[in-house]
Amino acid sequence: YLELTVVRLPATETGAGCVAVLHDVTEHRRTEEIRRDFVANVSHELRTPLTAIRGSAETLLDGALESPDFARRFVEMIRRQAERLENLSQDLLELAKVETGGAGGKPEMVRLAELADSVLSTVSDLAEQQGVELFSKLDDVNQTLWADRRQLEEAILNLMVNAIKYTDTGGRVTLAMRKTSDQIRIQVIDTGMGIPGEHLPRIFERFYRVDKNRSREIGGTGLGLAIVKHLTQAQGGHVEVESEPGKGSTFSLVFDL
Ligand code: ADP
Repeated sequence: YLELTVVRLPATETGAGCVAVLHDVTEHRRTEEIRRDFVANVSHELRTPLTAIRGSAETLLDGALESPDFARRFVEMIRRQAERLENLSQDLLELAKVETGGAGGKPEMVRLAELADSVLSTVSDLAEQQGVELFSKLDDVNQTLWADRRQLEEAILNLMVNAIKYTDTGGRVTLAMRKTSDQIRIQVIDTGMGIPGEHLPRIFERFYRVDKNRSREIGGTGLGLAIVKHLTQAQGGHVEVESEPGKGSTFSLVFDL
């Protein structure tokens, strides 16, 4: 996009004239567009659960309260939708913090083996409920990484929760910490549904989902991977993904040494 500004010069003896200045405002337009889309998305994500909560409350007041069975169903709906709003506000806060702060938090020497234990114990109940088996693979139990512990753990946790959510009963999720001569790769490998290739370039965008209904059903906000990307970049790393539909996905947090 080009913006044109024309300035008329004062008339002199030799004549009058104009100066035309062209500015390239493509980048500015694009930022504006992203911001507008984001606000529209947030409004939409808020409206859906709020409408469901209001509808349920009205149905209860209109008589559903009289029947314990109906009442339970609508109260349960209100609880579920409130939980969705809670997750959304938590994810929005996390994203705002890491995007505006931009900083990597308080870096320290993080022992990867300890981090893996902590992550695995946090998600063990969820994995059990889902019937997914957890594994861990560490190249070197003494390996450390200079990073903000909370931010790094949050990024890995988000990947683990996704891996478990998008893997059916009987599947496996592996947390691997690999070291090459010049990189540390923290990988979350699942044997789940996988992601079709055409979606891969966009899944780290805010609110991008491969299957909107399925993701909402399992309680996703659509912000998890955007948060992972920003948290990882704040630690000086980057994210990579490989996936094959029906076979599974591998998400990697990569840190150059
Ligand atoms: P959500 O809250 O919807 O899970 P995310 O930002 O965490 O949002 O992920 C974006 C989308 O990427 C998800 O909606 C899902 O379609 C896809 N996705 C993420 N992780 C996986 C995975 N391990 N296996 C299959 N699909 C995944």
